[in-house]
Amino acid sequence: MIDYHLHTPLCRHALGAPADYLEAARGKGLREIGFADHYPLGLLGVKPHAEVTMSPEELPQYVSEIKALAAGEKEIRVKLGAEVDYLPGKEKELARLLAREPFDYVIGSIHFMDDWDFTHPYFAARFEEADLEAVYRRYFELLWQACRSGLFDIIGHIDVIKKFGYRLPPAALEPYLQRTARILKECGLCYELNSAGRAAPAAEFYPGRRLLELCCREGVPVTLGSDAHAPDQVGRYFDEALQLLREVGYRELAVFTARQRSFIPLDGGAGKEAPSAS
Ligand SMILES: [Zn+2]
Ligand SMILES: [Zn+2]
Repeated sequence: MIDYHLHTPLCRHALGAPADYLEAARGKGLREIGFADHYPLGLLGVKPHAEVTMSPEELPQYVSEIKALAAGEKEIRVKLGAEVDYLPGKEKELARLLAREPFDYVIGSIHFMDDWDFTHPYFAARFEEADLEAVYRRYFELLWQACRSGLFDIIGHIDVIKKFGYRLPPAALEPYLQRTARILKECGLCYELNSAGRAAPAAEFYPGRRLLELCCREGVPVTLGSDAHAPDQVGRYFDEALQLLREVGYRELAVFTARQRSFIPLDGGAGKEAPSAS
């Protein structure tokens, strides 16, 4: 199995060295892991209220550290990825910046609505005063823009707006989910089943079953990540995640090398990379 969403202490809110994550992956019997630490917001001229990414100066260190870890490891494939914030208006700059890094894949995530870091527990109280319908609309509009930006290989924790348990009723949410699955398909994008949501107040994977079903029906490829911010979170809830993926109809997982997608069988213990069908 794979885990494509691991962080490192460079982002200032994760614990444990990359080698510790690798050892945790070995303990869980994973065949392939990918680090996708938070790409430096400083490179985009953004300084959030709370430091949540590595600094621009640390990016070369991150790249060389993960490359060295990969080179020294014989059993587990180690990929170099990044989790990058989608910030409207910064597309051209970001395309230029990402093109010069040797990433195997880039996860595009939304953590900010304007200046609100809405996934950060410190700022979760703002959901209390917010018009939830308007918040969801804004989130999904940003998400669709991110999909269409062409900047990303994988969309990260796609319905993370539910993180703190503030939810729209299912009927109100449904049109957003349907449109999201359609846009992923149109854009040829992959998304992740991110297991971290199970441990959040939402108590559910990102995305929940309904969006997984819609995406599977559209033929949108999926990959798998724990969003581990500590070594003991590597592969967290994966038995349950794999069961859910099987139930909704998925039979393979997307993997990436040098930003090219291929697939491995969901139930293939060997985890050998198959040539891409797309
Ligand atoms: Zn993080
Ligand atoms: Zn994230």
